[in-house]
Amino acid sequence: MILPGLSRPAGTIWCIGRNYAEHAKELGNEAPSSPVVFLKPASSLMIDGGVLRIPSDSNRVDHEVELVVAYGSSLKMAVGIDFTARDIQGELKAKGLPWTAAKGRPGFAAIGNFVDLHLPADLILSVNGTTRQKGTTADMLFTIEKLVEHLNSTYGLTEGDLIFTGTPSGVGPVVSGEKIDARLNLGESRLRLTVA
Ligand code: ZN
Repeated sequence: MILPGLSRPAGTIWCIGRNYAEHAKELGNEAPSSPVVFLKPASSLMIDGGVLRIPSDSNRVDHEVELVVAYGSSLKMAVGIDFTARDIQGELKAKGLPWTAAKGRPGFAAIGNFVDLHLPADLILSVNGTTRQKGTTADMLFTIEKLVEHLNSTYGLTEGDLIFTGTPSGVGPVVSGEKIDARLNLGESRLRLTVA
């Protein structure tokens, strides 16, 4: 899949957990001392105008609005939503198992159009016109520079890789029939979805 504003297909989808202190707190987690890293499959990608289907084995899918960075000779950014089946994640966490079943479903890596990276950036997510999440990348615990350095030195990044950089506080469930609108810097990058 070629993403809007990127001239190449997406590579690996890296995700960072607990990168905002207020969000770590709202889920009862400690602020991490090094980045929490997990992955999403390519099949979880969805772009602006898409339809999110709630998986039949989950009763709670949360929105997490995030800055997404595309890695390359020049970095690009887009608004994204890291959808999370919170009930499934809770069961996996309790058993000490990986989060793939909670984070990797079709449409769970939703992405708007890519533009040149310039920070800080504002993130806002509304559901049916009501603001649910509002944050700034200035509140990140690990900066983009640090995340890129960490991923590069630990795993190795490739041109076209995407990095979901964590969500500010205010995460909550989405319900069938709702319209979701996520914006970076008042719409410089935008993502509009319908929940089926
Ligand atoms: Zn997230």
